[in-house]
Amino acid sequence: MEKPISRKIGSTQLVILLGDITEQPTEAIVNAANPSLRGGGGVDGAIHRAGGRQILEQCQTYTRKHGSLPSGKAMVTTGGKLRAKYVIHTVGPVYKNKQESPPILQSAYQESLKLAEESKITSVSFPSISTGAYRYPLQAAAEVAVKAVIGCLRAGSALQLVQIVCFTKNTFTAYKMALEEATEQA
Ligand code: ADP
Repeated sequence: MEKPISRKIGSTQLVILLGDITEQPTEAIVNAANPSLRGGGGVDGAIHRAGGRQILEQCQTYTRKHGSLPSGKAMVTTGGKLRAKYVIHTVGPVYKNKQESPPILQSAYQESLKLAEESKITSVSFPSISTGAYRYPLQAAAEVAVKAVIGCLRAGSALQLVQIVCFTKNTFTAYKMALEEATEQA
């Protein structure tokens, strides 16, 4: 088992670990959703399966009222049957290129953290957004993700814990490298 890697950023602990996001005891977990918020494959499917119908019902209430969730934005529902009390749903970019895709991925992390803070959530777990079905190159995504999270935390945050939960060893290695590089330069 890979050992988690941890850094203190401002007053927040940032942890990267190998694991299943549906099992995390943080107050919120983030879902790499698609704009329809109807659930899908990958981490989205796993979260809806583990959390139950209540999550989907709240997603449907949201889309009836507001329409689909644009990429780079976030909304929040109950965690249903999950250990997490809340699920923050965000939509990453379907990878296109080095110009258009990074700001959208960065925004998905920023908007999720902003919503967590507004909701008075103190701990949150992220998956590796966009690196599955949305085909964002892993190392590039890890760099954007880690920089976005560190930027938010350095700007001042009431969050106690932010985790990035990697489902595969490759993913873990990429995020670990990105965190080591980002904090070395500091
Ligand atoms: P996207 O559509 O944003 O690319 P995917 O769900 O296809 O989303 O993939 C995003 C990442 O989520 C991938 O790295 C995948 O390995 C990971 N993943 C899948 N299931 C889980 C899970 N249960 N916990 C954490 N990460 C998961």
